[in-house]
Amino acid sequence: MDIKNNVLAFSEKLRSTNCKLVAVSKTKPNEVILEAYQAGQRVFGENKVQEMTEKHQSLPDDIEWHMIGHLQRNKVKYIAPFVSLIHSVDSMKLLKEVNKQAAKNDRTIEVLLQIHIAEEDTKFGLDKNELFELVHDIELPEMKNIKVVGLMGMATFTENQEQIRREFKMLKDLFIEIKKEYTPENVQIRELSMGMSGDYEIAIEEGSTLIRVGSSIFGSRNTH
Ligand SMILES: *Cc1c(COP(=O)(O)O)cnc(C)c1O
Repeated sequence: MDIKNNVLAFSEKLRSTNCKLVAVSKTKPNEVILEAYQAGQRVFGENKVQEMTEKHQSLPDDIEWHMIGHLQRNKVKYIAPFVSLIHSVDSMKLLKEVNKQAAKNDRTIEVLLQIHIAEEDTKFGLDKNELFELVHDIELPEMKNIKVVGLMGMATFTENQEQIRREFKMLKDLFIEIKKEYTPENVQIRELSMGMSGDYEIAIEEGSTLIRVGSSIFGSRNTH
């Protein structure tokens, strides 16, 4: 894999769009991440708390670390000092913990709400009703150390392009709807995180503002 070239190719592809690249570096060692960094990439996505924390400690300070994987409440404290965006908030309980740990670190943490859009059954993500319940929760306006800035979703893992497009459209519609909704000051919807290596082209066409791309940049991961 020519990582530098891949990063440059993505920035070329995204130049005329409103979309940014999150380079998903999970399982990849620091030297590989540095190759992308040297090509100008600054936003990296990880899905494990310990791995992200270790990488943050040894890599340049101007990297923005995005948590894209399922996050357990008892681990929020480890990433709260430095994480720049959490894509995977899927409950009020988790949001409260992020708020608490952000306050301890005297900062505001931006988060996305993960929405369940795939027709296939997956464990994670809010449905539409849960999303509206959450943004209207009476406790939300009091949470001064978080800011909800958008939605994240993962399409079904399928060859069926029409299905993927349909799922992304659903998320985009929800994004538009929630933007119009009357919400507290700490909800300012601007980001729509959708699209991975297999489906980012459709995601960009459907209005993604953050694509999360791993294997198309870094090569395939060893799966266990
Ligand atoms: C691993 C991962 C990605 C990137 O997947 P690729 O297919 O390698 O691009 C994107 N989003 C999430 C949530 C992931 O866990």
